[in-house]
Amino acid sequence: MPYYGWDEEHLSVVRSSIQKFCEQELSREYVRWMDENCNFPPDDLWKKLADYGIFDRSQAASPYDYLVIFEELATASVAVAISIGAAISFGQGFISLMGTPEQREEFLPKFAGGEVKMCMAMTEPGGGTDILNALRTTAVEDGDHYVLNGQKIFITAAHVADYIITIAVTDKEAAHKADSWSIFIVPADSPGLTIRQIPKLGIHACGCAEIFYEDVRVPKENLLGPKNMAYPILVGGRSRKPKAAEEKNAGSGDAPKEKPDGAAMKSVTRGLSILNSERVGTSMLSLGVAKAAYRDAYNYALEREAFGRPIGQFQIIQNYLVEMAMQIENARNLIYSTVGLGLMGKTNILQAQMSKIVAARASEYCATKGMEILGGYGFSMEYDMQRHFRDYKQMVFSPISEEMAINVIARMLGLPKSY
Ligand SMILES: Cc1cc2nc3c(=O)[nH]c(=O)nc-3n(C[C@H](O)[C@H](O)[C@H](O)COP(=O)(O)OP(=O)(O)OC[C@H]3O[C@@H](n4cnc5c(N)ncnc54)[C@H](O)[C@@H]3O)c2cc1C
Repeated sequence: MPYYGWDEEHLSVVRSSIQKFCEQELSREYVRWMDENCNFPPDDLWKKLADYGIFDRSQAASPYDYLVIFEELATASVAVAISIGAAISFGQGFISLMGTPEQREEFLPKFAGGEVKMCMAMTEPGGGTDILNALRTTAVEDGDHYVLNGQKIFITAAHVADYIITIAVTDKEAAHKADSWSIFIVPADSPGLTIRQIPKLGIHACGCAEIFYEDVRVPKENLLGPKNMAYPILVGGRSRKPKAAEEKNAGSGDAPKEKPDGAAMKSVTRGLSILNSERVGTSMLSLGVAKAAYRDAYNYALEREAFGRPIGQFQIIQNYLVEMAMQIENARNLIYSTVGLGLMGKTNILQAQMSKIVAARASEYCATKGMEILGGYGFSMEYDMQRHFRDYKQMVFSPISEEMAINVIARMLGLPKSY
């Protein structure tokens, strides 16, 4: 495949190895059992994933390794893939990009060994799409600490996390809300913190939760990244020069010792914001669901007979399966080329949003038509198609809704802003 720096031979070895791991550790029966019984992958599976080296990105010979691994994991179990993305990759990404040397030293080796879990808490009850206006959680300085008050909702893996990466307002007087957010590493056992799991329709084996902060005190060294500059780092786009006071803080122990114009800000100017990477990760999850639904529908179509022949011989069923295969191929190509653009140092915001939508639509098509191909068995809880049908939906509206992703694309195409 003609992606930037793509090494077909090496990646086929990576793919066969992870496929073997999935066959052994994520069998159909085990994945079904997790869906029915777990709100997060069990500890023994987590250990096997760590022993395999899945959490240790430094092991990867090429940046595509991780994508190939993620694609195969998401096909075997989207819940396991999303658990890794939410509990390990998010923390790794945040701390690699913005952490002080001390924070990196403390956390990065633990992520690589699967010994620490984090979640990322941005969304609030007031709304996820218009998050700039909805975000109300505050962090107020008090001596050597910040004191957090507020509420977060739908936070993946919050119920198992050791630390909650929390986005809070630190400058209520800021002329622009985009200049008022900061990020904190909040220990999950902090006094004043309450976590309540929220039952949901799909991806049962990776739960989400509501978080209440009531006078939660965190030491100042738990500030992650430059104060008041979380928005451009997370979302990209608006990026101002840091105020002199923030420059000063950035080297003072009050905040990361790395200056705000370090790696994090360079990434922002290239459009490689953390949430942009999340779009690509989410596309992979959708791709995994699409592939799993296609695989199950394809096998069923060849086995199930009607009118004396396999239903896969009927043209309309072939039409569905071919459309599924095309949408999967299309989504995969867009995702890998989006990553390729990033590797070339080019902006890929537009392609990341497009990947997110194209992959989610592929998963929707495959799960919906998969249900039809299985007829009544699709509706039975004893077959896996119903799980794909429940699971695909989460990636349609999260982390960014399809409607909002379309808004972003429209603006990037030069159309007038609609909101
Ligand atoms: C299972 C699950 C896991 C999640 N995990 C996390 C997590 O780990 N961390 C985290 O911070 N958040 C998480 N989220 C939150 C998720 O990112 C939000 O649900 C998402 O951003 C949508 O926000 P909302 O649900 O408040 O919907 P709203 O923002 O209220 O949107 C409702 C509807 O209005 C539409 N809409 C809003 N504005 C516009 C507009 N301008 N143009 C067109 N349509 C518009 C939306 O597209 C949507 O259809 C999770 C959510 C779920 C359900």
